[in-house]
Amino acid sequence: MTKFRTLDDLGDIVGKVALVRVDLNLPMHDGAVTDDTRVRAAAPTINELTAKGAKVLLLAHFGRPKGERVSTQSLSMVIDAVQDVIGKEVMFCPEIAGPIVAQTVGILGNGDVALLENTRFWKGEEANDPELAKAIAANGDFYVNDAFSAAHRAHATTEGLAKVLPAYAGRSMQAELEALEKALGNPERLVAAVVGGAKVSSKLDVLMHLVTQVDHLIIGGGMANTFLAASDVDVGKSLCEHDLKDTALEILSAADKVGCTVHLPYDVVVSKEFAANPPSLRTCAVHEVAADEMILDIGPQATEALADVLKTCKTLVWNGPLGAFETPPFDTATVALAKVAAALTAEGSLVSVAGGGDTVAALNVAGVADDFSYISTAGGAFLEWMEGKELPGVAALQVV
Ligand code: ADP
Ligand code: MG
Repeated sequence: MTKFRTLDDLGDIVGKVALVRVDLNLPMHDGAVTDDTRVRAAAPTINELTAKGAKVLLLAHFGRPKGERVSTQSLSMVIDAVQDVIGKEVMFCPEIAGPIVAQTVGILGNGDVALLENTRFWKGEEANDPELAKAIAANGDFYVNDAFSAAHRAHATTEGLAKVLPAYAGRSMQAELEALEKALGNPERLVAAVVGGAKVSSKLDVLMHLVTQVDHLIIGGGMANTFLAASDVDVGKSLCEHDLKDTALEILSAADKVGCTVHLPYDVVVSKEFAANPPSLRTCAVHEVAADEMILDIGPQATEALADVLKTCKTLVWNGPLGAFETPPFDTATVALAKVAAALTAEGSLVSVAGGGDTVAALNVAGVADDFSYISTAGGAFLEWMEGKELPGVAALQVV
């Protein structure tokens, strides 16, 4: 297990300045924040530090200003959302380093919070310029990284700062790392992975890595079609990457070699048109798909068989919906299997970890997002972790 310091390892921090990297890349519409989930994720760390008397300087990026000051991407736009969630006034500082930040620190009382400007206004952020990291560090006493979602980037405020200041994982980062460790780092066996979604090409590295890590690899969604086609099943008009046939066969043979059982659906839900509750909707065996039909979900028999597989497992990691869940009834298999996973988790027999933008949306549709052991909202960082890659922001927190 990666060893890292947490807020538990902080001594007396009264009057000390904490540089805290958080994720405030919030969705906005007409100048207003539409979803404050990321602020709520950062709140426990901010509140714990202020309660202990630290002066908190928040660091975050917002959008892609590419190293220039872009007024429409100033972090000042999210300050109300931050104040609302943490329930206290937040000062805004239009710099991230230098004398203006020092002045801000001088004004802050113990337990006060300031939000610094969008880190990506400075070219050195994405370039991971050590000089920028040093300049930022000059105004702080220690560094806390609470932005797992940005940890797959080696930037000055996600990686560089950890090299020049004592570095700690914030509470969200800690929870994420502990959940991921339980799911794939050092999991209880048997381990199942569900990989679904649209395309094999977007998740090749995920599949290749999982084969070596899990006992059961469950493939659903559009990517199952590519695997079926590779096994000489006629998938009709289905979304399918025919040019990846060889790659799919390689994954199947790699799985075979290490004793990982790959589960492909044997019945599917098909339709001639991609629409809600279409008249041509039917369920059939995979080898009965007509040339003018497309596979839009896995079938009820396959779903039941997968539920039986999950019942034999202790750990589940899930990325990607099993069908085109946005359009009913093609959410049926995803919802059904998610409910089984949620029930097994509630019974205490399964540790269930899920992540991915559409996966989180699908689990919300199923109404089970709160019943999984852990749901990662980290997107890119979650996928890179599923690919078995070392995340620079996490590696930099490591205590050797
Ligand atoms: P995530 O964002 O969780 O990583 P993806 O982006 O890889 O997931 O995939 C989600 C998308 O895959 C959804 O938009 C869903 O409609 C689509 N999808 C799943 N199964 C099918 C299918 N059989 N045919 C077409 N699209 C599908
Ligand atoms: Mg997606």
